[in-house]
Amino acid sequence: MTSAGYRVSVDHSKCTGCAQCYAACPNKVFVIENKKAVPVYQEKCVGCRSCVVRCPSGAITLTPRDVYSFFARFYSKH
Ligand code: SF4
Ligand code: SF4
Repeated sequence: MTSAGYRVSVDHSKCTGCAQCYAACPNKVFVIENKKAVPVYQEKCVGCRSCVVRCPSGAITLTPRDVYSFFARFYSKH
């Protein structure tokens, strides 16, 4: 994997604002705003998946940005 990083997304319909992701993340990617986790600093994400494992609601999705760029290139040719 390159240093392109990861896309972190939080499904706010599932998030309860418990802040477990905030506590688990070594790089403080999340802030809790209005009782929802927001991955404000997601450029710092190293893809360790601690937040995904810790989240009791299954609200966090982690996707390598390379996957996005791959699909972007793929679909731009079709
Ligand atoms: S995968 Fe790791 S570094 Fe990335 S947001 Fe989750 S806990 Fe933080
Ligand atoms: S651990 Fe999950 S439910 Fe808790 S604040 Fe983070 S995203 Fe929301």
